[in-house]
Amino acid sequence: MSAPRNHTIVAIDGPSGSGKSTISRRVAAQLGMAYLDTGAMYRAAAWWCVRDGIDLTDTGAVAQAVRELPLVMGTDPADPGVAVGGEDVSVVIRSTEISTVVSAVATNLEVRDELRRRQREIIDASRRESGIVAEGRDITTVVAPDADVRILLVASEEARLARRAREIHGADDSSALAATRDQVLRRDADDSTVSSFHRAADGVVTIDSSELTLEETVDAVRGLVEATRRSGR
Ligand code: C5P
Repeated sequence: MSAPRNHTIVAIDGPSGSGKSTISRRVAAQLGMAYLDTGAMYRAAAWWCVRDGIDLTDTGAVAQAVRELPLVMGTDPADPGVAVGGEDVSVVIRSTEISTVVSAVATNLEVRDELRRRQREIIDASRRESGIVAEGRDITTVVAPDADVRILLVASEEARLARRAREIHGADDSSALAATRDQVLRRDADDSTVSSFHRAADGVVTIDSSELTLEETVDAVRGLVEATRRSGR
């Protein structure tokens, strides 16, 4: 058997509410790896354009603004900060206002080129340490198709809506579910026009978390990463 490798690149994709951020962060923390939330990069880009009053339908102006985006992504899973021009935006980028408009920025193909380039740089830098868990919509297929472990994390529509409703509204009764629909279903429909995250590509392992607890899902992902590390692949 070959010697265990000292860095592992883990790519996790999935739709909104699949739990990928929480699970990726926990796995990275447990295994002493870096963590990259690529959705936060698209959110920071959207926040930057909104703050500057840029018309999000003006694709050229949005692309130019994102090329100049002074974004610094923290990759410590215990505290993955997001800073733009030195300002901590990690909370404001999760607002309903940004969730509502982020897909308009994320479906801009020039924006995707720019942010993917930056994502690959962060992933490459992690090879000098113990590797990274990077999550998003297109990480297993486009950003890091050569990752050591590639996972598509899915969950039923009901489970995803209920999770997001509890996260945003603190309840999953019918009015909270209705208020969450746009954030989950409409956003995924828009995002699907540029990324394929409902079906696993070749070599990508699907984990369905609908019937699993958070801990069980973390264990399933961690088990795959540990098995890959042991095999030295
Ligand atoms: O994961 P999160 O919900 O924070 O992602 C926010 C948005 O960023 C998504 O709705 C999608 O528009 C965009 N995104 C993307 N590609 C990624 C990650 C996120 O287009 N790799």
